[in-house]
Amino acid sequence: MKPEFIYFDLDNTLLDHSSAEKEAQTDIYHSYPELQQVPLDEWLSAYKALNHQLWLSYQNGMIDRQELQRTRFKGSMEQLGLDTARSEEIGSNYMQQYRKHWNWLDGARDAFDAIRRHYPVGIITNGFTETQQKKFEFMGLKEYCEIFIISEEVGVMKPHHKVFDVATEKAGVNRDSILYVGDSYSSDIKGGRQAGWKTAWYTAFTNGMDSSHHSEADFSFDEFPELVSFLTA
Ligand SMILES: [Mg+2]
Repeated sequence: MKPEFIYFDLDNTLLDHSSAEKEAQTDIYHSYPELQQVPLDEWLSAYKALNHQLWLSYQNGMIDRQELQRTRFKGSMEQLGLDTARSEEIGSNYMQQYRKHWNWLDGARDAFDAIRRHYPVGIITNGFTETQQKKFEFMGLKEYCEIFIISEEVGVMKPHHKVFDVATEKAGVNRDSILYVGDSYSSDIKGGRQAGWKTAWYTAFTNGMDSSHHSEADFSFDEFPELVSFLTA
C-alpha cells in the first residue's frame, strides 16, 4: 500500500497528551489545599471519569465548550465533597499548566520528519480550536502540514463522517489513497475505515477492550520506527 496523502491524529499520536494532563493535574493538586483533602490518585480518577463523560456529552452536542470546561473541575470537586469556591480559577490554571507540559511522544518527531519528506501530510484532531492551534505552533507543524482540521471548526467530532469528508476533499485524492495514523480505535480507526480510508493504529495507548479490533486496521504499531519502515521501505 502506497498512500498519496497521510493524516495524523494529534493527541496521544504525536503529542503526549496523557503525560501533560497528568503532570498539569499534579501541579494544580499541589497548589490548591482544597484538592489535597483527598489523595492525588482519587482526585485524578474522579476528574478523568467526569471529563470523559463530559467529552461524550460535548460530542453529542448536549453541552458546549464553556460548560465542559467549567463543569469538569466543579463537578469532580462536588462529587468528592471538596470546596468548589475556586473551581473556575483551578480550571484555568490547569489549562496554563497543561500547556507547559506539552511534548512529542517518544520517537514521534523523528518519524513525522521522515514521513513528511515522502508524503504530503495533514492533521485531524478532536479538540478546541484555540488549544489545538497552540499545539500546532509549539510543535512547529505549521511549516510542514498542508492541512489542519479541528473538530470544533467542523462542528462535529471524529468519528463523524463529516470530519473525514471535509478532510478527503481538502486532500484532493481518492479515499483509498489516504492513510490515517491515530491512537483511538473509536475515533480514528473506525472513523477512518467508515470513510473508506486506510488506517495505521498506534497502539501504545490501547486498552484491553479495544485490542479485540486489532485486525481492523491496515497496519498497527507501538513504536514509531515501525511506521517509518512500513511507509518508507
Ligand atoms: Mg488521539
